[in-house]
Amino acid sequence: MKGVYLLMRKIILTVLAFALLQLPAVVLAAVNVRGENGPGDMIRVGLWTNQSSIILSADTDFLIVDTDSKKVLAKFAAKDKVAVSAKGKILINAKAVTGRSISLQPGNYKTGIEVNKRHYRGTITVFLPQGKDGLTVVNTLPVEQYLYGIIAKEISPGWPLEAIKAQAVAARSYALANKNKHGREGFDVCATTDCQVYGGMESENIKSNRAVDDTYGQVLVYKGRVISGYFHSSAGGYTENSENVWGTAYPYLRAVPDFDQGTPNFSWEQRVTADELQGVLQRAGYTIGKLTALELSPLSAAPIANSIDRGISGRVKSILLIGDRGSANLTGIQFRSLLGLRSTLFDIEIITPNDKKIEVRITDSAGDREIKEIPINLPPTKQKGFLLDRGNVHHLSGRPNEVIVINGFGSGHGVGMSQWGAKVMAEKAPQNNTTYFKTILQHYFQGVEIKKIY
Ligand SMILES: [Zn+2]
Repeated sequence: MKGVYLLMRKIILTVLAFALLQLPAVVLAAVNVRGENGPGDMIRVGLWTNQSSIILSADTDFLIVDTDSKKVLAKFAAKDKVAVSAKGKILINAKAVTGRSISLQPGNYKTGIEVNKRHYRGTITVFLPQGKDGLTVVNTLPVEQYLYGIIAKEISPGWPLEAIKAQAVAARSYALANKNKHGREGFDVCATTDCQVYGGMESENIKSNRAVDDTYGQVLVYKGRVISGYFHSSAGGYTENSENVWGTAYPYLRAVPDFDQGTPNFSWEQRVTADELQGVLQRAGYTIGKLTALELSPLSAAPIANSIDRGISGRVKSILLIGDRGSANLTGIQFRSLLGLRSTLFDIEIITPNDKKIEVRITDSAGDREIKEIPINLPPTKQKGFLLDRGNVHHLSGRPNEVIVINGFGSGHGVGMSQWGAKVMAEKAPQNNTTYFKTILQHYFQGVEIKKIY
């Protein structure tokens, strides 16, 4: 009878295990993404640095171990909240431990490991870097599971699957090409826009997870090397050569037409008064006195060849700000960040208000002369530079409320893949073409191959 009981038990457990495998990926934490392929490469994601304390928890019983010796430091029950803090040493619930690095033991947590109320797949390590007062929190997990937590942050899950798959391959390539970018801080990539925005399990959704699964292990390769799959929101009609934005020429990051016309970030306008711009320049340390003119060539249709101050797409490489005590030659990127512009692809226009009143000398019938102020109501004059300057110099009159209008296109740096352009391409793709993501990628990344590396 005992043998039959054990056999029944085995069958029930097998059925249960099988049933568990049928659950959506988001429920199964710390399990290989694709059993047949293995977990692929691992990545260390720096969630936070310099924290005075954090709260850890898990949905089943869990252990905290010394990261190096694996010695168990403390045991906790499911849903216990553990405070890890730093005071020269690491403290677990106010009790100091000797090592400088602790880890939450990997386990079959259904909803991942909870850190500060967010949930993460893989494992969590907390360490106190030498010479620092605050804690660093690192999430180590397979790259594929890391991608689950970033794709939906970058692109709307409502977009066509082929566009999301293109994004998944670009993001995987970026992650693998930038391994150890933050090596000196003890992790590979950070969780912010500096690398890629990562939000753990809360950021996942079924469609973007599927895009990751459908492109498992596939990356952008140029001459045998995995490349950084740079991307941006919207190119504003044309992407840009990398050297015109970052100074370094990459053969696969070339200017190509974009298809983002009619999408939300295609064109924009931002206004700043001359006084405001002068204030911004002063605060940034540019001592040019009173701003008298801006020098920038007019924007013409891409592709633009041989412009000194613009790239092929028209992105501003440099802009000269002229004052009465000097001038400042800013890069497009510097000017963009000073004013918080959406991109460096823009034209400028000055709107000079006319004086509201003019003074008129009047002689009355008695021969007395007086000066009268007469109100006038002319529309402000727009100027687009002077002909003598070939349209490059935009003079400021110095009148109050003079406005510099910045007419711009696109959003982001404009190098590599345009996300909105990829969406438009995917919408026009032949139906049921499940490899169209490669066509999208090979448009924005010239000369690359898409290869499965694990
Ligand atoms: Zn980073």
